[in-house]
Order: sequence, then structure tokens, then C-alpha cells
Amino acid sequence: MMLNYDYPLYRPPSEARSLIFQVTLGCSFNECSFCDMYRSKEYGERPWDEVKLEIDMMAKQLPDTQRIFLADGDALNLDTEYMVKVVKYIKEKFQNLERISCYAMPMNILKKTPEELKRIHDAGLTMFYLGIESGSDVILKKVTKGAIAKTIIKAVNKAKDVGYTMSCMVILGLGGSKYSKEHIRGTAEVISACSPNYVGALTLYLENGIKNEFLTKFGEEFVPVSDGQALVELEDLISQIDVKDDVVFRANHGSNAYTIKGTFPQDKQDMLDKISWMKKHPEVIRPKGLRGF
Ligand code: SF4
Repeated sequence: MMLNYDYPLYRPPSEARSLIFQVTLGCSFNECSFCDMYRSKEYGERPWDEVKLEIDMMAKQLPDTQRIFLADGDALNLDTEYMVKVVKYIKEKFQNLERISCYAMPMNILKKTPEELKRIHDAGLTMFYLGIESGSDVILKKVTKGAIAKTIIKAVNKAKDVGYTMSCMVILGLGGSKYSKEHIRGTAEVISACSPNYVGALTLYLENGIKNEFLTKFGEEFVPVSDGQALVELEDLISQIDVKDDVVFRANHGSNAYTIKGTFPQDKQDMLDKISWMKKHPEVIRPKGLRGF
């Protein structure tokens, strides 16, 4: 018997093989203008008897599970007591777990005290996926992210201080052509100010269902960046990121025209060299038809 998921169901690419428990449904914010993941759902929290039943069932079927992802869009919105209860129970039932993770937005992290975050971490939830998207306040406002650069930095550092592994996403092209430089400057500043353990760069891809809302909320003409401009954004981003701690950087998501990966600070020059090479070899671009968000 399989779990009875409430679709659509999303998880980060690196959790593709993880067992997923839906402890919340949808996204408690649900307003970012570039994201249509949970538009069809109303935010809700699953009751303990349902969650427990699923954990019990899967613990029998897949006792050797190593990774568990708690869905949907911001499971960290759960009340601390409840989250600790869920995570502790999962740890008890799955003996070979390597990690438990979930999506979190800056507000979820900022709403909890360091002590609450620590209790959840001690219980066994040790990794958050958080969308930075952009570090420019102008763009964050235009895409109605509900966060500003300062709160993003604060949230990532707060979680890291407690011991969480932070995997963050940024979106190339999010400011369009006009705000391209501003977007990259701000984004590099945010990454440099909080050194997430992982940073993944996606490229903006507007699904049909969200396109009009995105363009309206943007508030002025939006000219998408070309593949060439996206590569320049990637180059500028890498060259402006200045970190001392290791940051594993990947721009290999299916939405990107190009593939780049490496670890800051040591691989910075190699990544820049690879981009210089790519600029001379446009044939390495991923065809548009093969891209998706
Ligand atoms: S990007 Fe994240 S916070 Fe924003 S609407 Fe989508 S799921 Fe919610």
C-alpha cells in the first residue's frame, strides 16, 4: 500500500529518492508571484492520527529509509510542540535515518525562538530548503516574496547558528532585463552575508497559470533575460560571491540553459573559467524545449 498523497506534491530535486510525509498541505503564504506550486490548495495542517498512521505504515514497508522530506510548502510553519512530536516519532520508527528536511521560508524561521529551533533540531530535523530568490529588495517586493534581504540573511544565519544545514535557491532572470545587475548585486550580497551550505541557481520559468499575475504584480514592463544574459548573470553572481565558509554551488537545475557546479571559495575561478569557455560555445546551451522549473 502506498501513501495517499494530496497532489500536487513537490520536493527539492535532491530529495527525489526521499520518503515524503505530508505534514502540512499547501503553503501558508502562497503569494510569491513566480510560484504556482500550491495555488490549487488551501494551507492546512494534517492531524496527528493521520500523520502517525502513515509513519507507522511506511516504517513497516520501508524500514531502511535514509532520508525523509516533510512536505508541503513550509512544514516549518507547524507549531514547535507538534513538529517535535512528529520528528521524534519518525526518528523512533526509522532506525537508519541520515536526515529529515523540509522547506522553510524566512518568516517560519524568524517566528521561532532559537530554543524552539534547537528543540526541533535536537529531535532530528536538521536541514531546511529556503528560497532566497533574489537579494534585491526592489525585486523581492515586485515578486511579492514577503521578505527583504535583511530578513533572509537573519533567518539563514539564525538557523545555521543552531546547526541546521541550509540549502537555498536563487532565481536567475527574476528581475528581468532592467533589474539584472541590481538582482545579481543584491543576491551575491545576501549569499556572502550568510554562506548557505548549498546554493542552487534556477532560471525563471513562468508557468502559464501564473504568468499574468507575475506580470501585473511586477508593476512595469517585464523583459525576460535572454540565455546570453542569464549566463552573464551567472558569471556576475559567481564573481561577486565572497565567502569564507564552504558554499556548494549548483546551477544544474533543469530550468537553466547552462550547467555549472563547484564549491566556494576554492572553485570560484574554475567556475568562472568554465563560463568564459561556455560563452564561446553556445552549442552547450540546453534546448528551450527541454527546460522546466
Ligand atoms: S515560493 Fe515558497 S513561500 Fe512562495 S508561494 Fe511558493 S511555496 Fe510559498
